[in-house]
Amino acid sequence: MSMLKSPGQIALMREAGRVVAHALKAVREHADVGISLKELDDVAAAVIRDAGAKPAFLDYHPRWASVPFPGVICASVNDAVVHGIPNGYVLEDGDLLSIDCGAFLEGWCGDAAISFTVGEGDPVDQQLIDATEAALARGIEAAQVGNKMGDVAYAIGGEAKRAGYGLLADHGGHGIGRTMHAEPPVPNIGRPGRGMKLEEGLVIAIEPMLILGGKDDYYHDEDEWTLRSANGRRAAHSEHTVAITAEGPLILTMP
Ligand code: MG
Ligand code: MG
Repeated sequence: MSMLKSPGQIALMREAGRVVAHALKAVREHADVGISLKELDDVAAAVIRDAGAKPAFLDYHPRWASVPFPGVICASVNDAVVHGIPNGYVLEDGDLLSIDCGAFLEGWCGDAAISFTVGEGDPVDQQLIDATEAALARGIEAAQVGNKMGDVAYAIGGEAKRAGYGLLADHGGHGIGRTMHAEPPVPNIGRPGRGMKLEEGLVIAIEPMLILGGKDDYYHDEDEWTLRSANGRRAAHSEHTVAITAEGPLILTMP
């Protein structure tokens, strides 16, 4: 099956992306000191259900995982970089929270992530979040017909490294469509002018994952899902699903 989507298919993916954006917005508005990750999961589940969509993460079971993912969102707090389980943890003042959410609407998938601080945030954490969003913005700008995948990767990784942050090793974005994780891989580190040519109709999830302290290493929490920074420092994650069109990159995961 071709990786490329027609304008009509991209329009359907835009609707799936809208549901994800609404779920993330609702979670962000609900997140506060004293609120549990499980409560945030319930908020996202309700938005997705009310939109007639299906959660993409719940029961997701890749080969490498011994148990299926138990939540609608990934909720990754502080040194958790990605894939945090929305459990009974209660948010504390100053926590750095990353929320990743995916949904299927009429068989098409949207996938996006945001990071923010709870209560009185540390400016150091806000700078990390700003840099993660900047890396995402640079990656999206590079997602142009005629560019190569290496241009996107270089744009993301260059922004992160220049700002002095680490990038989660071995992880990046992905093609997306009828399945959440599809070809091609979208690396966060690369060389300009290298890799596959970006064509009109390619839809990709771009997702920088930045770590304080310039180190890229991680380890798996004993819950087998959560990836934590090896240096114990905080991390941020930002993601959009983006269509490459003749008119330029089109962000699908917007309200
Ligand atoms: Mg995601
Ligand atoms: Mg993704």
